Amino acid sequence: MANIYNDIKCVLITKEQLEQKVAEIADMINSEYADKNPILICILKGSVVFYADICKYINCNMQMDFMVVSSYQNGSTSTRDVKIKKDLDNDIKGRDVIIIEDIIDSGNTLCALKKNLLDRKPASLKIFTLLNKPERREADIVPDYSGFTVPDEFVVGYGLDYAEQYRNMPYIGVLKEEIYKD
Ligand code: IMP
Ligand code: MG
Repeated sequence: MANIYNDIKCVLITKEQLEQKVAEIADMINSEYADKNPILICILKGSVVFYADICKYINCNMQMDFMVVSSYQNGSTSTRDVKIKKDLDNDIKGRDVIIIEDIIDSGNTLCALKKNLLDRKPASLKIFTLLNKPERREADIVPDYSGFTVPDEFVVGYGLDYAEQYRNMPYIGVLKEEIYKD
């Protein structure tokens, strides 16, 4: 019988490390936003597990909202724009906004998204990413918080996918190269 765990080369970040990081991030949000009511934006689908885990530990008022985005090259300028497949339900004007992202790779998606959200005039906007692959960066974007710096390898689990698979794994692992290279 097929078992997704046979496709994993090694564990990069354990379940325990993820739990500890989630608690740290929630503590940070709890103290920084104690008397505020931030909107936490989950960037679907990759952030869904990380997002749900953080939310469970937040003890200040907060609202949930969700977006589905991808970035594309704008033909007329050399910049990238963000294509919004599912937009926020809330108006973020004057609100404190926190983006929860799974991984920053080239940074193109988040860079375009940040610009789009800043145009809506939030009171503040912070980016929390679980993983950061700085070696692959193309866009000029620095997260306000990054959980783990990872090497330039394809990682899956804890929300991150390859071809929509492996999101359900409780840890982050490196995918065997034979799975994605033909
Ligand atoms: P960026 O615009 O290149 O920063 O793209 C970021 C998006 O690419 C993330 O939100 C992920 O969905 C995806 N991605 C980048 N690297 C990986 C990886 O190693 N594993 C799984 N998804 C990845
Ligand atoms: Mg993603």
